[in-house]
Amino acid sequence: MSEKKYWDEALETLPRAELEKRQLKDLKVIVQFAYENAPYYKRSFDEAGVKPEDIQTLADIQKLPFIDKTTQRDTQGVGSFLGELCAVPEEEVIFISTSSGSTGVPTMSPFTKKDFDEFQDAESRWFWQIGMRPKDRYVHALNFSLYVGGPDVIGAQNLGALCIWGGTLPSERLLYVLKTYQPTIIWTSPSYAWHLGETAMKNGIDPKKDLAIKKIIVAGELGGSIDSTRKAIEDLWGAEVFDFYGLSDIFGACAAMCEAKDGLHIAEDHILVETIDLKTGEILPPGEVGELVYTTLRKHARPLLRFRTGDIGWIDNTPCSCGRTHGRIHINGRKDDMFIVSAVNVFPSDIEAVIRDIKGITGEYLVRIFEKDYTCKYSVEIERNADNAEPDERIEALVSDALKARIGVKPSDVKVHPDGGLNTRSEHKSKRIIDERN
Ligand SMILES: [Zn+2]
Repeated sequence: MSEKKYWDEALETLPRAELEKRQLKDLKVIVQFAYENAPYYKRSFDEAGVKPEDIQTLADIQKLPFIDKTTQRDTQGVGSFLGELCAVPEEEVIFISTSSGSTGVPTMSPFTKKDFDEFQDAESRWFWQIGMRPKDRYVHALNFSLYVGGPDVIGAQNLGALCIWGGTLPSERLLYVLKTYQPTIIWTSPSYAWHLGETAMKNGIDPKKDLAIKKIIVAGELGGSIDSTRKAIEDLWGAEVFDFYGLSDIFGACAAMCEAKDGLHIAEDHILVETIDLKTGEILPPGEVGELVYTTLRKHARPLLRFRTGDIGWIDNTPCSCGRTHGRIHINGRKDDMFIVSAVNVFPSDIEAVIRDIKGITGEYLVRIFEKDYTCKYSVEIERNADNAEPDERIEALVSDALKARIGVKPSDVKVHPDGGLNTRSEHKSKRIIDERN
């Protein structure tokens, strides 16, 4: 019996024109629904002088005002527990996830039963896309506490895989699970995948020989979309790495890599993507870099209309070799993480891509951003491999030249540490960027 290639072939390979027709139909419904049921949208539409009937084409979305994280914070708890962006009574809400609050008050994302089931079906689609099948054993090693990535494991269960709810087990116990139960797929963050592989080696476990992991899903940091980082993790584990992308504001199943590994397919049946100019807010054509703005097309508990994500990237709507027609997003980094040196936009992910590509150093790094003489500058600290006999000055010059060549601006300083000298290896998200500016 031949196995189906797609989780939902009709949906995933829908011709672009049909896909957009479907988006427009859902957009009209959700805009009307939001206007009638969420007090915030009623007010903001009225203030902007726009009515739901004004949406007759996808481009008409430009008539609607933007919202952002601040809108979520300012409206949450206002008028009701879930606030003025919520469009259903609380008794219809079955689940909330919350953001980490790393940049302010945590925001809640509510789901109705239907929202939640559709979220998990989208997740099953991504799992199937990377080759997960019912015969797989899957370890979900993501945080379950409040985090929107926690419930993603249900998508794997609905697909029929044998699921192990790992959560954030200490490395030693997780390695016991990997060794004893021989699971084939794991999901974690890229920095933790690296850390776990190294910890295994230190404990005499060779991930390539002693473990059965064939695929690693990563999310939560950009590493999975940085070729050199992805390849480093793949070499360490002898496994394929796929990048996934979710947003606490929407759900944990927004986008995922396919076998082509050229961007992440975004669930365009759920999310309408716009790319906008950072300064003017104007819509940019596909392929141009700007801030990604999402409109949720089907989430009823809290519709997000024109939500500015703070992610900088671009969308590619050209056909993918895998046959899927949904566009692919490429993310350069967070707007808040970007810094400008000598008129060049620098993303921490660009620096990581360079560092991970250089031979003779461990790939660990620490970046300091600071101001000197009223000018923004950056310095980089790295670790030499234990068996690297090159003098420090040679390594410094190598790193400095590589950064200049790829990013366009040299760091003001490169400092070389011995192997393990940087305290950047962590159990969870790593702190590698220190911004010393006021
Ligand atoms: Zn594809």
